[in-house]
Amino acid sequence: MILVVNCGSSTIKYQLFSQDVETVAAKGTVAKIGESGSTLEHQAGDQKITIEQEIPSHGVGFELIIDALLDDEHGAISDIHDITAVGHRAVHGADVFVESTIIDEDVIKNLEACVPLAPLHNPANLTGIRQAQELLPDVPHVAVFDTAFHQTMPPQAYTYALPYDLCHEHKIRRYGFHGTSFRYVSRRTAELLNRPVTELKSVICHLGNGASLAAVDGGKSVDTSMGLATFCGVMMGTRSGDFDPAIVFHLHDQVNFSLEEIDRMIFKESGLLGVSGLSNDMRTIETQAGEGHERSQLALDLFAYMIKKYIGAYAAAMGGINTLVFTAGIGENSPIVRQKVCEGLGFLGITIDDTANDQAIRGKEGVISNPDASVTVLVVPTNEEKMIALDTAELAGLK
Ligand code: ADP
Repeated sequence: MILVVNCGSSTIKYQLFSQDVETVAAKGTVAKIGESGSTLEHQAGDQKITIEQEIPSHGVGFELIIDALLDDEHGAISDIHDITAVGHRAVHGADVFVESTIIDEDVIKNLEACVPLAPLHNPANLTGIRQAQELLPDVPHVAVFDTAFHQTMPPQAYTYALPYDLCHEHKIRRYGFHGTSFRYVSRRTAELLNRPVTELKSVICHLGNGASLAAVDGGKSVDTSMGLATFCGVMMGTRSGDFDPAIVFHLHDQVNFSLEEIDRMIFKESGLLGVSGLSNDMRTIETQAGEGHERSQLALDLFAYMIKKYIGAYAAAMGGINTLVFTAGIGENSPIVRQKVCEGLGFLGITIDDTANDQAIRGKEGVISNPDASVTVLVVPTNEEKMIALDTAELAGLK
């Protein structure tokens, strides 16, 4: 069986897949590592448990996960050797990692070298890898990078128009994220349409708490809305997306904001939350907008408008598109957002069927465009864990 793990600074999310990556035998989350109120929530079949205990480190978290997986009542394996490989979600692989890779000492060193580019995420990923390797030393561990899928972007898409040598020296460029999701959705779209992925010119909208779009031509990423880090592009739950960098200097010089305050504002106090003043959750924004709350309506309109502009830009970049795909929490569940994004895009061949759009919620995949539209619009639920498990199975020689 293949264990997929996703380590954040205070969380470990995990899923245990069957060897053929067809079923999930168990899954769960360790939360608040190193904080008060830490828990393990674990589920195998219809057995669910929550353990509340002190979890001071990722190592203790992993021990709890293995114990839960081995448990007679709510476990999913009878022997730790039933785990034949471990797949790790890795956030930033810079321009070093262009695909998933078996983890060895060189990979660890290169991941360490990428820490300055992802100071919050990569150290957590590294801790997770080291702790999991200690507990499961005899099986292959594989790293699957959020950035890798976008390494096919041409220089004109990933270069910032800043001094070239400076950017080169400090590895400043567009990297893009959500790559594992885009890769899964791109493949699944081709499967659903029964067409070779090479025929598809797609814009994929990954709209979750974090959100980004990718222009995917023939299965390869040619542009994406996030950049060096994860705040630019479209507006998100609490992140701003694109804005004029002059605002940073203005807030610093005229309003006496420190860089830390500006950083927090851009990442944690902006987006849907910042504009609405109410919530970062699209469900609340939609309800409040429906009840006449003006700033929620503005947040909803702005969210859809920013996405719409990127779709236009990527259609231009690829010389037209034939598929538009929505995925992640908002993309998979919000007919209102999809309708607002597609409104007025008839000139690109994008029109949607209202009934099909309303029905595509809660994990349903399918086409929502009008039958005569030249662009096929789809909802395709993402599954990053499955993509990581598939890569792990392949690299570990299990498939
Ligand atoms: P993350 O980026 O954290 O993985 P998800 O992809 O799970 O996020 O998306 C979470 C977001 O999806 C929530 O913040 C919420 O705004 C949105 N969402 C979930 N269900 C619905 C729904 N029924 N309608 C509108 N938005 C929804």
